[in-house]
Amino acid sequence: MSHASENADGSWSLNGRKIWIGNGHRAGVIATFAQTEVMKGGVKKKRPTAFIIRPDMPGFKVVGTFKKLGIKGSTQADLVYDNLQVPADHVLGEVGKGFAVAVNVLNGGRLTLAAGCTGGAKELLGEMARYAEQRVQFGQPLANFEITQRKMAHLAAETYASEAMLGILAHGIDADTHDWALEAAICKVFASELIWRASDEMVQVAGGRGYCQPQPYERWLRDARIQRIFEGANEVLRLFIGLTGIQGPAERLAQIGSAMRAPVKNFGLVSGFAADRVREVLGVSDGVDTPLHPRLQEHRKYLEKHVADLKRATDEMIMKYKKQIIERQLVVERLAEMAIQLFATSAVLSRTQALIAERGVEQCERELALADLFCVQAGRWFRHARNALDAREEEVDARRKDIAAIVRAEAGYWVTDPIMDEPRGTIDERRELAKRAMTG
Ligand SMILES: Cc1cc2nc3c(=O)[nH]c(=O)nc-3n(C[C@H](O)[C@H](O)[C@H](O)COP(=O)(O)OP(=O)(O)OC[C@H]3O[C@@H](n4cnc5c(N)ncnc54)[C@H](O)[C@@H]3O)c2cc1C
Repeated sequence: MSHASENADGSWSLNGRKIWIGNGHRAGVIATFAQTEVMKGGVKKKRPTAFIIRPDMPGFKVVGTFKKLGIKGSTQADLVYDNLQVPADHVLGEVGKGFAVAVNVLNGGRLTLAAGCTGGAKELLGEMARYAEQRVQFGQPLANFEITQRKMAHLAAETYASEAMLGILAHGIDADTHDWALEAAICKVFASELIWRASDEMVQVAGGRGYCQPQPYERWLRDARIQRIFEGANEVLRLFIGLTGIQGPAERLAQIGSAMRAPVKNFGLVSGFAADRVREVLGVSDGVDTPLHPRLQEHRKYLEKHVADLKRATDEMIMKYKKQIIERQLVVERLAEMAIQLFATSAVLSRTQALIAERGVEQCERELALADLFCVQAGRWFRHARNALDAREEEVDARRKDIAAIVRAEAGYWVTDPIMDEPRGTIDERRELAKRAMTG
């Protein structure tokens, strides 16, 4: 991160480099962050501060722009602040409080990213439906085949879920009831993975044409790829979701008597969250409080069971790993996956219930079909993650670690093949080696 030092007149000098700054080379105004020194308990500490800068300020330089795989309609710039002179009144918020500004920006960014991905998934589904209807193979349109139908059905159901989650998030951010960072991260992860699957399946449905220009499908695939990386890589966001969810139960269990309070403080990427919050956000206590139509009762039963499962699993994992849980990324990732599926399921139930209340159940058969398919699928994903918290999976995780250690030590794949690898010896010697390898 860049550094900012305060000048005698209260203005600031910024120094450092920023890469991947969206449209930074042609922006009129840029929000940027730099480390500043602040006094904390009588000690000097470095804390980020947000600044507003303009390219006409002395010391602002554009080094260049990047060549990319996709999203070529926007440009990412490489910027240098070479003693950039920033007036005192260009501090955004308070000195040393840049993290709060960044979190706010990120919540909005993740919401709009998720909205863009969900809109993109709708477009893709429309294109897939049109393409599969007109392309005839084996005497029938592709759309007649069950495998194509499965692709369309799942994309439709997941788009419905993504939109339902977005509705809750957008409303929540507008109502400003509490910090929505957890839900914003969930929406970002879910929608970015949805658009990736959708564009991948679109290429597949279009076959060879999907891979080539002038059809737009290969570009859509390239454009979709970045969504899982920027605004926080999905791996990092899953850790954020998992650790945020852990914080509350860890504190509760700590009060029961273990000496976990100090480590708990380290869980706090953002304070004030709890796994119980997941339940609260879903409108779920030990049972779902909102009255649901009988057509949704079966899903409610599973949702309630899964909420209890997540709570139990979270408690067990905290007790088992204590502060080491931070290092157990695969465990945290599984808890995050469970939370994502619960949030998605409850959003789908809530949206479908609202539609039933508005139109009557007879007018909602098609949306009920989406809800049914999504809830069943989300339940499977949930159980898959829950089952992987099983003690037996520890052995598999240990194997993963062993293999990764060898890959690291060997800097890659290490098993040699007598025929394909670097020729050693005469042709007869190699033939002999190959014969021995094949006969064991
Ligand atoms: C096209 C584009 C546009 C961008 N626009 C902007 C912009 O406008 N403004 C801006 O500030 N930034 C922007 N970025 C930066 C972007 O947000 C980062 O590239 C992204 O957050 C990932 O950070 P990184 O590239 O440093 O990857 P790294 O931090 O090096 O991570 C690489 C990979 O490692 C894995 N990983 C990282 N940390 C962990 C961990 N703790 N545990 C497990 N796995 C981990 C993840 O899979 C991750 O994808 C942009 C980037 C690109 C490519």
